[in-house]
Amino acid sequence: MFSQWAKLWVLTIILLMSTFAHSSAFEIKSKYTTIIYNNKKELRQFNNDIYMGKYSRILLNNNVETSVDELIVKIDWIVDRVKSILKMSPEKIGFKIAICPSSEAVIKAYKIVYGKDTRYKAFYAPQINTVFFSTTDMELRVVAHEFAHVIMEHYFQTSPPKIIHELLARYAEKHITD
Ligand SMILES: [Zn+2]
Repeated sequence: MFSQWAKLWVLTIILLMSTFAHSSAFEIKSKYTTIIYNNKKELRQFNNDIYMGKYSRILLNNNVETSVDELIVKIDWIVDRVKSILKMSPEKIGFKIAICPSSEAVIKAYKIVYGKDTRYKAFYAPQINTVFFSTTDMELRVVAHEFAHVIMEHYFQTSPPKIIHELLARYAEKHITD
C-alpha cells in the first residue's frame, strides 16, 4: 500500500508532467523555493510581470545581472516581506513554484489537484507544497497573496479555517505595496 508521502509524490509527478507536457522542465533554487519552469522566455515573462514599484531598489543592492538573479531576489524578498506583514516566522520555509505557460494550464493543474473547475489565475496546493502561477497576467499582489497561504501552512500546526486563510492572504496582498 502507498504511504501518504508516496501518493503525494505520484500526484506531483503527474501534475508536473501534464503541466509541462511539451518540454522537459527546468528548475532553479532560491533560499525558500524551487522554481520549476518550461523555458527561459516564460521565466523572463513571469519575472517582468512582478513589478516591484518603489521596492525595485532591492534589485540594485543584490548584484542582479540576469532575469534569473532578479527573480530569485524578488521571490525571497516577497517571502520575507509577507512574513513580516503577517508577523509569522515559521522555523523553516521551503516550497515549490510551478510557472505554467498560461492561465489555462493553471486551471488544468487545479482540476488535477482538486478534481473541480476554477477561475483562479494562481493557487497554492498544500498537499504538494506547490504554488502554481501563470506566466501571463501575474503581479506582485497575487504572488504575495499565495505566499501568505504558504507561510500560514508552515506556521500553524493545524491549518486555520479557510476563511481565516483567505482574509489573511488578502491582508498580505493589500499591504505588500505599502
Ligand atoms: Zn487565497
